[in-house]
Amino acid sequence: MAAPFSRPVPGGEVRALPKAELHRHLEGCVSVPTMIRLAARHGAKLPSSDPAELERLTKLKAPMGSLDEVLAMFSIAQAAFASYEAVEEITWEALETAFRGENIRLLELRFSPDFMLGGKDLDWRRSLDIMASVVRRFESRHPFVGGLIVIASRGLGLASAERTAEFAVENRKKVIGFDLAEGEKAFPARLYAPLAKKLRAAGLPLTVHSGEEGEFSQVRETLELLRPARIGHGVKAAEDRTGRTMEMIRAAGVTVETNPWSNYLTRAVESPEKHPLKKFLDAGLKCAISADDPEILDTDLDREYALALGPLGLTRADLDLCRRYAVEGSFLDPDRREQAAGELGF
Ligand SMILES: [Zn+2]
Repeated sequence: MAAPFSRPVPGGEVRALPKAELHRHLEGCVSVPTMIRLAARHGAKLPSSDPAELERLTKLKAPMGSLDEVLAMFSIAQAAFASYEAVEEITWEALETAFRGENIRLLELRFSPDFMLGGKDLDWRRSLDIMASVVRRFESRHPFVGGLIVIASRGLGLASAERTAEFAVENRKKVIGFDLAEGEKAFPARLYAPLAKKLRAAGLPLTVHSGEEGEFSQVRETLELLRPARIGHGVKAAEDRTGRTMEMIRAAGVTVETNPWSNYLTRAVESPEKHPLKKFLDAGLKCAISADDPEILDTDLDREYALALGPLGLTRADLDLCRRYAVEGSFLDPDRREQAAGELGF
């Protein structure tokens, strides 16, 4: 077996940089101490109450053996959203960790209501209201701007995606965008063309997890049929030797939300050195860097930046470009984007 990849440790300069992140799942932001605290409060059973053992069961520390392994981790985190108070606390902590721990000044947090709240007696709208008010409260106290993206988890089926899109449209004022996540191979883009049209008509910007698994043709299909403003991951686009898929992304002005460590752990790329971020930037693609699921993937934006500057081969100027693209590609309104641009020094 190959030795585990040793990640560069972020230096003081990286840590001090004010940052923006577009791709972070709330369900991937539940820390082990929080799981233990919330389970105790709700009388819920965890697979272990020993922090070290729970850490082992909920954090992916090496490239995954199977998707089931990762899904089991998500289901432990999902159980933590057991009450409205839990939704509030987890959201607040996600913002605190990003702001205090990683110096993130613009954060788009995404969540899948049907996954996160599935099987629980919690109302989607009330949960969203709570999360949105947490973001506003956090913004009022810190030099920080944030917004919420609603996700349709493709694996939960088409009816779930439609219900989720309807929910997002009805609550347009509390969400900044919509995402289609996971399962692109089994649930191809063409299934969602009518849904994307509805979202466009409602003025809700769309991002799509695309090219994380499978073939580069899926990225083409996503661009052509769904016309998203951004795509998540996109790594398979680099496998098109003609360069045509990358050129399509560039020509469409689409921002790519890259998640380098996530792509290594889910085996979307063989090694961090083979991640195409540098290639994308050199081809003129607008790329932002994100941590995806920081707790489950045992990462954060500082470590993603260190990875980008090390094994991925970005220059400091490339990194600044990614920081700028993150702000420019944000779904937040222009006032908030401008505030973030100031915080990031642009
Ligand atoms: Zn994601």
